[in-house]
Amino acid sequence: MVDSVSWDHREFVYKASIALARSTIEDIDEGVTGCIAELRDWLLSDRSYLILFEEATQTLSITHEICAKGVEPQRLAIQNVPMSRFPWLVEQLQKLAVLSIPEVEELPCEAEEEKLEFRREGIRSLILVGLRLEGQVRGILGFDFLDQSLTPDPETEEFLLQIGEILGASVHRQILATRNERFENSLYRYSDQFPGVIFQFRTYPDGRMTFPFISKKVETMFGLSPEVLRSDAGPLLELIDAEDKSAFEEKVDESRQGMTPFETDFRAVKADGSIAWIEARSVPARLADESMIWHGYFYDVSDRKQSESEIEKLAFYDSLTGLPNRRLLQDRLAQALTGSTRDHNHGALVFLDLDNFKNINDSAGHVTGDELLKQVGQRLQRTVRQWDTVARLGGDEFVLILKGFPADAASAAARVEKVCEKVRDALNEPYDLNGIDYTGTPSIGVTLFFDHDTSLEELLGQADMAMFRAKDDGRNCIRFYDAMMQKKVSERLAMESDLRLAIRKNQLAVHYQILVDEKGKPIGAEALLRWHCPGRGMVSPAEFIPLAEETGLIESVGYWVLEEVLSRVASWKKRGGVLSQLQVSVNVSTRQFHLPSFCSTVMALLRKTGASPRNLKVEITESALAYDLELVEETLRTLRSMGIRISLDDFGTGYSSLGYLKRLSLDELKIDQGFVRDILDDPNDAAIAETILALASALKLSAVAEGVETKGQLERLVSMGCTRFQGYYFSRPLPATEFERLLEKSGTGEQRRAW
Ligand code: C2E
Ligand code: MG
Ligand code: MG
Repeated sequence: MVDSVSWDHREFVYKASIALARSTIEDIDEGVTGCIAELRDWLLSDRSYLILFEEATQTLSITHEICAKGVEPQRLAIQNVPMSRFPWLVEQLQKLAVLSIPEVEELPCEAEEEKLEFRREGIRSLILVGLRLEGQVRGILGFDFLDQSLTPDPETEEFLLQIGEILGASVHRQILATRNERFENSLYRYSDQFPGVIFQFRTYPDGRMTFPFISKKVETMFGLSPEVLRSDAGPLLELIDAEDKSAFEEKVDESRQGMTPFETDFRAVKADGSIAWIEARSVPARLADESMIWHGYFYDVSDRKQSESEIEKLAFYDSLTGLPNRRLLQDRLAQALTGSTRDHNHGALVFLDLDNFKNINDSAGHVTGDELLKQVGQRLQRTVRQWDTVARLGGDEFVLILKGFPADAASAAARVEKVCEKVRDALNEPYDLNGIDYTGTPSIGVTLFFDHDTSLEELLGQADMAMFRAKDDGRNCIRFYDAMMQKKVSERLAMESDLRLAIRKNQLAVHYQILVDEKGKPIGAEALLRWHCPGRGMVSPAEFIPLAEETGLIESVGYWVLEEVLSRVASWKKRGGVLSQLQVSVNVSTRQFHLPSFCSTVMALLRKTGASPRNLKVEITESALAYDLELVEETLRTLRSMGIRISLDDFGTGYSSLGYLKRLSLDELKIDQGFVRDILDDPNDAAIAETILALASALKLSAVAEGVETKGQLERLVSMGCTRFQGYYFSRPLPATEFERLLEKSGTGEQRRAW
């Protein structure tokens, strides 16, 4: 044993601890080696070394070793050796702070394995100090003696124990550091594989913010270096779009307060200057100093946002015009309603339908129709203010939500009307539809809303109703919804259901009105439909025929009339006399006339009733002609080839052109009673009647004046050359039996006022 006086234990421990504590991670190895070298010198051992246990693998390895001259080092041999090879030794070290083996050969038999190992290494005696970390033996500070047998005294043991602690702590520090480094390295490695940026984001109680860790991708994504962000998160946070910044900060606060995951999407400027949508997801943890740390990632989701917005577009926008669709309209209207309540002002829902859109679509094709819809959409958007909404419901129906009108209903209505007039004017401007010139008109219905909860459906219903009124009142009209209108609509609905029953309940009848020539001789009759409705009394066909047309009921009503009239005509034929000579006009509504089965139905009914086509005249109106002209021509030709005459009713009120009249197979024009009524007082009406008569004669058509009520009117018409008349002056429409009686009584009816 060496002279302990030459060694001041305390000083050595002190110096070693200072040196090792001060050394950097890289220098620790050197310090440890120096330390065991000095200890070897002092103990005069042949070998001094440090062994560390690897807990995960349960192996041990020599990490540092110093050998006397000529002594073979064991470091390479003792690497990753299973600890199970030294069961006795490990067990002893758990119990004893210092294990000294004065004679290897005297080891107990439980230490057989160890004995063999020590023998192999040529060792005679050893001193082994357990390195304890957190109460566990994690390594050994060892000294081998090849030739001498040594037993340390208690003071030496104590000294070695202290040194062991210092070395243990240093090595521990080194292990942690390397482990950390390894971890960080692998974190970087893994995070580089991730398509986004992985981060630790930290906020301090003093308001500072940093990214203690942020993966290298932040350089390519945002053009910022992880080093800069490590000490200041500012440069990255500044890239967040101004619009999303406050939401971002709110989410951070929310996550801090509730310790809930931080999840938000925000826009930010990327390194290439483009704006990207970034998804941020992270989980918070609170640190001891009240700092907060979030672990999470940033991920560029621009592509997903793009497809989301495309999906949204599909769901909420009309694909043809790009305008909001019904779903989005619903949303906007809900907003407008709350806005109206909040700001205490009026809003308006405007329903807009293009007049005769079907015509342009049918005649010029869908592509042109679509182009018109697009241009209408653009004009609407240009005309209304930017906070108003323009939506397309489908077809040629558009809806506007106008906002911010006065609380006073009358002035709001006046202002809304002005806007609607502007809209109408904009839509009246000529269109260029891919080379086709077009002018069109809209029908506009308006309803106001104010400070109350009305559903979209309800408001749309009101505006729609107003729009239909606008249509009824002629084209290019603006009409406001009012309660009266609502009442009328409800009445119409009730009437519709009554009308459905009318045929079955035998409430319909046909009355006949005589047509005479200039001598007053009966030449024909017009069949006029009557509805005796129990609750309503006599309902005028002017009221229910349009309704029947709209609802489709006209098909069955029209069929019933034809059958009724043809049966009557057949019975008159059998009866002979004046009745059998009459040509009976039947009014055929436009919709009925356009049924593909119309001609065959007439033919079948002629056959069924036995009536002669020579006694039948079909009255159509000009609207029947404003359709597929070729089809109309064909129908007319078929009817005439059967021997049926064709009369154009209410002539002068519609839009037929001279061209049509020349082309079509017609027999008769009926001068509308509107021109006859004032023929004596209104020179315009007289001129029109005269023109129609001239036109008829030029086209070799006969002309009938309708609604002749007075002798004066009759004389005037006669003076103009009119030869056929119909009107109360001769007779009102009469029920069939009365009509029959009247005609048979009058015999051949030579004199005019017999009726
Ligand atoms: P319309 O075809 O022009 O029929 C002539 C209308 O004028 C009839 O009205 C008739 O009663 C009325 N009238 C006849 N003479 C005079 C007169 O001197 N002064 C006045 N002020 N009016 C006169 P009504 O029967 O009320 O029929 C109205 C319209 O209903 C008809 O006009 C016709 O368009 C339609 N209609 C009548 N019956 C049928 C039918 O069976 N089918 C179809 N589709 N429409 C019908
Ligand atoms: Mg008629
Ligand atoms: Mg008429």
